[in-house]
Amino acid sequence: MGRLDGKVALITGAARGQGAAEARLFVAEGAHVMLGDVLDDDGAIVAKELGERAAYRHHDVTSEGDWDAIVAATRSEFGRLDVLVNNAGVFRIVGMTATSLDEYMRIVTINQVGPFLGMKAVTETMIGQGSGSIVNISSVAGLAGSPGTIAYTAGKFAVRGMTKVAALELAPFGVRVNSVHPGLIDTPMLREAFTRDVEVDIDGAGANVPNGRLATAEDVARLVLYLASDDSSYSTGSEFVVDGGMTARL
Ligand code: NAD
Repeated sequence: MGRLDGKVALITGAARGQGAAEARLFVAEGAHVMLGDVLDDDGAIVAKELGERAAYRHHDVTSEGDWDAIVAATRSEFGRLDVLVNNAGVFRIVGMTATSLDEYMRIVTINQVGPFLGMKAVTETMIGQGSGSIVNISSVAGLAGSPGTIAYTAGKFAVRGMTKVAALELAPFGVRVNSVHPGLIDTPMLREAFTRDVEVDIDGAGANVPNGRLATAEDVARLVLYLASDDSSYSTGSEFVVDGGMTARL
């Protein structure tokens, strides 16, 4: 028996990295999964690999029209919608004074406005069903600051705060909303930033984490699975950290 038997999930940014790992784990645990992303070739390959309990659809999280379309497609393809994972995101390491307003707005629009639109888009369906779980992927950058991440940190703090507001508004209707705060996760996002924006040795970065390694996408996916499933039925409005001890250190 799977931990998500009978449930239908929508995962944003699911073409690669953590979103793809969550899609694979969710299907293995019995769910039907709609994958959204803007990387259409990669997304279609992941969905094909997962078989008939998965489908891919082009979905830009900054577009309200795309949200309406993917929620409607999920309901018509799989009949319901129990879980939303607001996972899509972008990351740059650029100093504050070198960050243009356009770049700030681009990052905040994807990382902050995207999850806001997503929560709005699924609310009516989840309230109608009398249950649902929304998992917002924030970051350790939603808990503390680090140089070179002004726009990213703004968006991730906002996701942490919006999670609490949405959790309080939706609790009477059986819909839970929690935030996840990953540390350094070995995905294309981190590898690209560490080569494009700064010259950081990715293995050295892992050695600096208290538990001695970077996380895998699967490390995060297992936490997201817990929040998506009924195992976490009494958790809402909460922050779940998966960082190998990074934020425990002074
Ligand atoms: P990733 O770059 O591998 O995956 C992110 C996905 O989001 C990509 O497939 C990308 O195409 C998609 N995406 C970007 N813009 C989009 C848009 N407008 N609409 C739809 N999809 C879009 O990165 P990842 O590490 O898997 O990141 C997943 C989430 O985890 C992100 O929210 C990220 O901020 C967060 N996070 C990552 C790390 C890390 O170290 N990798 C740490 C903390 C938090």
